[in-house]
Amino acid sequence: MNTGNKPAVFYITDNGLVLAERLRGLYPDLKIFKFSSGIPAEIWNEYKSFIFIMATGIAVRTIAPLIKDKKTDPAVVVLDEKGKFSISLLSGHLGGANEIAEELAGFLGAESVITTASDINGLTSMDLWARDNNLIIEDPGLLPKIAGRLINEGSLNIYSDIGIDLPGDFIKTDDPASADVFITNRKDLFNSGFPDGSGGESGQPYRKDCIYLRPGNLVVGIGCNSGTSLDEIEDAVKKALDENNLAFSSIHSIATIDIKAGEPGLTAFSGKYGLEINTFTPGELNSVKGISRSEAVFRATGANAVAEPAALLAAGSDALLVKKRKAGNTTLAIAEKRMRGTGKGRIFIVGTGPGSIGHITPYAMKALRESDVIAGYGTYLDLIQELIKDKEVVSTGMTRETERCRRAVELAATGRTVSVVSGGDPGIYAMAGLVLEIVKKQSEDSSTDIHIEVVPGISALNACASRLGAPLMHDFASISLSDRLTPWELIEKRLDAAAAADFAIVLYNPRSRGRTMQINRAVEIISRHRLPETPVGIVKGAMRENEKIIITDLGNMLEHDIDMQTTVIIGNSNTFSWNNMMITPRGYESKYSI
Ligand code: SAH
Repeated sequence: MNTGNKPAVFYITDNGLVLAERLRGLYPDLKIFKFSSGIPAEIWNEYKSFIFIMATGIAVRTIAPLIKDKKTDPAVVVLDEKGKFSISLLSGHLGGANEIAEELAGFLGAESVITTASDINGLTSMDLWARDNNLIIEDPGLLPKIAGRLINEGSLNIYSDIGIDLPGDFIKTDDPASADVFITNRKDLFNSGFPDGSGGESGQPYRKDCIYLRPGNLVVGIGCNSGTSLDEIEDAVKKALDENNLAFSSIHSIATIDIKAGEPGLTAFSGKYGLEINTFTPGELNSVKGISRSEAVFRATGANAVAEPAALLAAGSDALLVKKRKAGNTTLAIAEKRMRGTGKGRIFIVGTGPGSIGHITPYAMKALRESDVIAGYGTYLDLIQELIKDKEVVSTGMTRETERCRRAVELAATGRTVSVVSGGDPGIYAMAGLVLEIVKKQSEDSSTDIHIEVVPGISALNACASRLGAPLMHDFASISLSDRLTPWELIEKRLDAAAAADFAIVLYNPRSRGRTMQINRAVEIISRHRLPETPVGIVKGAMRENEKIIITDLGNMLEHDIDMQTTVIIGNSNTFSWNNMMITPRGYESKYSI
């Protein structure tokens, strides 16, 4: 989530200030400034996003002298002082203004005004998609042409030689000649010089202005004599790549032996291109199998070889793409880093509340918006249909929930952002435990690095209690009558214990078509400890269109309609009903006078 990107907010009028203060609910650490024409210029470089609560014209005049280019400009969003419109004004894609405008609109109930063509047409934005997948756009100047083609034709043909999930409007093709976009570290797909002999067979691409996206997955292992110059290293690297038809822009990092960590030519090369240097000890280098030993290198460093094992170790690979090449004072070798899973995937386990959009938290909405994929069960997804219409959906029937969660974890492991959706709260008889158990299991088998966040929701017990008045003001127990995953004897034991201890009792999953006796048995057990007059609330479909609320008592509750969309709340010995509400007093002894 973007909490690191605290926005700066400018207001002019008193109403503007009130609105600015309200935005703290969405961005707790935002900075509010009373607008004067000089301030934005002073702080322009300190913030990644700006919200102007004022007329668009004032915002446009203010930022006009400050803007440079879409790679570096901050996001600018304009709100009118009543919070009716949320306008993405500048840096809609890479700067994130579209996302902020949508976020503000969701939070304020405003209308968002987004004008970037791909968004308007519900199509993927190439620059954002490339960024999210750690792909380097080789010629960003071609982006408008490619975006135009996507809008006119509705899809793009993508040729990729790395494993990568594509959105629906990017169609995978195996024939490079028919592609609009190439995802590859090969410098030129139509140059027959590629080491594995592929490429070139189809002649030239049919399309003009194709774009190359570079996976940035090449690791260059370098050994060099002391004092080798930057120029010599740079020439050697460029030549090694060129001769093997590999793209310079696809270099991920360089790797060498620890004693060369401070070698001036190497550090200058890494600094010039912003490449990380990874170093290894002779012991680490010598642990790599199948590398030929160089007597001279061994005498000088204690390592059998440098370039090849360093490249393999840094890439986490066991095969070289380019074997050792000696040129002047340098030795180079190139390995390919595995791409899948390199971008850190995220899983949000999101609770969407009892069933109306208004009862979903803004934070949960944000998580859904930030997700590429939504995994959930039909009914719950129907309720949030509007929010997820442009997302990829993983949906299987209720009983295949393990399969669904496993798929969600797999997708996150490829670097995508996935929301696993549960109704109510995800940690109450829902998905959170299952997802965490699957991730725990997988982390024992392999080292996947996934960010996991449980996003709470309003549970049925909150929603139903609120509809009934205040039945859960004192200690209560929540018991699910579903014996699908819990032995029935244990459920009976808990019912008896909770009733004996005078807890108010919330019954989830009270009855389904195939499970009808459990609720009768529960009433029998609870009645051992509680009077038939004990108030009982039955809420069906809380916060949904078919909502039905009944207040009755323990003796009569079974006469009413109870199903899988229902939650039953049984009062404690002090609960009373009044005016069609159920109230459980806060204290057993009255400590306060009303
Ligand atoms: N995670 C959910 C519970 C899932 S178990 C939560 O926190 O609410 C499913 C049970 O929840 C249903 O059988 C029903 O007992 C209850 N439930 C869910 N939504 C409900 C609603 N809108 N109104 C009443 N009960 C509901």
